[in-house]
Amino acid sequence: MKLVNPANRRKHKVIIVGAGLAGASAAATLGQQGYHVQCFSYHDSPRRAHSIAAQGGINAAKNYRYDGDSIQRLFYDTVKGGDFRSREANVYRLAQISLNIIDQCAAQGVPFAREYGGLLDTRSFGGVQVQRTFYARGQTGQQLLLGAYQALEEQIAAGNVVMHTRTEMLDVALVNGRARGIITRNLLTGAIESHAADVVVLATGGYSNVFFLSTNAMASNCTAIWRAHRRGALFANPCFTQIHPTCIPQSSDHQSKLTLMSESLRNDGRVWVPKDKNDKRGPNQIPENERDYYLERRYPSFGNLVPRDVASRASKEVCDEGRGVGPNGRGVYLDFGDAIRRMGVEQVREKYGNLFDIYEQITGEDAYKVPMRIYPAPHYTMGGLWVDYQLMSTLPGLFVGGEANFSDHGANRLGASALMQGLADGYFILSATIPNYLATTALERVDASHPAFSQTKADVVQRLESLLKIKGKRTPDSFHRELGTLMWNNCGMSRSEKSLREALSRIPALRDEFWHDLCLVGTGEELNQSLEKANRISDFLELAELMCVDALDRKESCGCHFRVESQTPDGEAKRDDEHFSFASAWEWKGTGQAPVLQKEPLAFEQVHLTQRSYK
Ligand SMILES: Cc1cc2nc3c(=O)[nH]c(=O)nc-3n(C[C@H](O)[C@H](O)[C@H](O)COP(=O)(O)OP(=O)(O)OC[C@H]3O[C@@H](n4cnc5c(N)ncnc54)[C@H](O)[C@@H]3O)c2cc1C
Repeated sequence: MKLVNPANRRKHKVIIVGAGLAGASAAATLGQQGYHVQCFSYHDSPRRAHSIAAQGGINAAKNYRYDGDSIQRLFYDTVKGGDFRSREANVYRLAQISLNIIDQCAAQGVPFAREYGGLLDTRSFGGVQVQRTFYARGQTGQQLLLGAYQALEEQIAAGNVVMHTRTEMLDVALVNGRARGIITRNLLTGAIESHAADVVVLATGGYSNVFFLSTNAMASNCTAIWRAHRRGALFANPCFTQIHPTCIPQSSDHQSKLTLMSESLRNDGRVWVPKDKNDKRGPNQIPENERDYYLERRYPSFGNLVPRDVASRASKEVCDEGRGVGPNGRGVYLDFGDAIRRMGVEQVREKYGNLFDIYEQITGEDAYKVPMRIYPAPHYTMGGLWVDYQLMSTLPGLFVGGEANFSDHGANRLGASALMQGLADGYFILSATIPNYLATTALERVDASHPAFSQTKADVVQRLESLLKIKGKRTPDSFHRELGTLMWNNCGMSRSEKSLREALSRIPALRDEFWHDLCLVGTGEELNQSLEKANRISDFLELAELMCVDALDRKESCGCHFRVESQTPDGEAKRDDEHFSFASAWEWKGTGQAPVLQKEPLAFEQVHLTQRSYK
């Protein structure tokens, strides 16, 4: 990597959109290096980024347990967990950096759980046979975010970072094909503004809310990456979306949000359903020999800790057989009875207390006494903007970090690896690759008066005005809910050619209806949350189509992408390495126009491609 002389760094402006774990850590680190950083977030504080919701933990190959962990093993587990659809070199780098992340965060004062002797404690997550997950009770994301936020605040106080809260990026401005700035809307006043820089970083999170109901924060959306896609950044593997097996089941059609119960609970909780589908007794009345611990039965080596895609599909299958529990039969038990008998209720409370509290507040049930009920829900998106090894998109000067890029997780992310990846990107990778870009690129002086900005700004204003002008009858939420249901049913936990073709015929009609019958109140020159929402939904309505196109094109099953036509005799995902060993990177050609596929072949030199098995 080429370096930039310290005296020259302050001459460079870097825009970072997003102040979650990836964005805040990148902004703090680049600020500390001496760059002039402008950081943007639509939240009122970086502390409210969706990263705060992360519960379970963060992986690192420290091998503090002496249980056989190593960089090589974390690397291998991640490539295998992603069903051999990630880029080997990136994953190896991630495994290496995982060690530094824990040191960095511990030095910041992140209160990781410790063992009695004072050493950092770890626990297990799915898809691995070591204990490499560092955690802070069930609030790991919050504690890590506070660490990154403190580092960011230090740089704000030092004058190296300017923080723009309640400001939403609505487009990227390109000058001579390079990303040189962004157009934003001030969410309090409605003012549309231009900001110029030498480099733009998007760290804007994932797009699970395309499904309407998901475990993501209500405001999480795809607008930043989608608008960059429309300007030429390729979008990779959009159909790789993760359905998390342990969420609180949906209770009614009026619900607007789903809640995760951390995967860490599967360390001690056992998943089961009644053996007999007609068994309507309460869980505590069903004797041991009449319960089907189906994960332990089907996957004896990994048991309850199989990866998420495998656990989610298994839950769906038992519910489809009619053995699901709870009011609508869409639920399975996660039972702590054995753990309580083994460790005592106090130790269970110590490890998972806040998760049990969340569960009780939402369901009214005490999971120390009655097993939790859980069901899979949309949770994480492995797809995102395509990036090279330097984390730069196909738009020169536009870098992408955290969940917003197509990341290192292939077709399925292992638990506790998103925080690892977001912080690897922010603290360690972007802070090396951005200086390298600046040192090796001749950049002309550009400010926000450049004509490229006025043109892009006009496009943004025009789109907002078009939304406000429709004056139809349907609320933004009603469109979002309909789109989400359509996506869940047709491009959710399993997909078939038939379901995808159906979705592809219905999405354009729904989008058309949206642009003719949307009802918005208020104006653009004020705080207007329905305008914000509608604008984001307009992007989901385009992204959803690309997800289905991608899912239809990838005829194999891999990881979370389960094409019903491609399964092994025992119902597992069946890859087709001969024809699909590539990352799909899609090029935008216009609304309703067929996108163009570019393939990045995946070459595996270090790992041997195998049929994934957790039996
Ligand atoms: C309930 C839950 C629990 C989880 N638990 C774990 C866990 O235990 N371990 C793990 O590894 N992973 C976990 N994950 C996943 C992990 O939390 C996320 O992948 C990760 O935090 C994403 O971080 P990020 O920085 O990429 O994005 P985010 O935290 O989503 O931050 C996005 C930032 O971008 C800003 N932004 C977005 N769009 C715009 C725009 N257009 N203009 C301006 N600002 C914008 C937002 O304001 C925000 O600051 C969990 C996820 C969920 C939903």
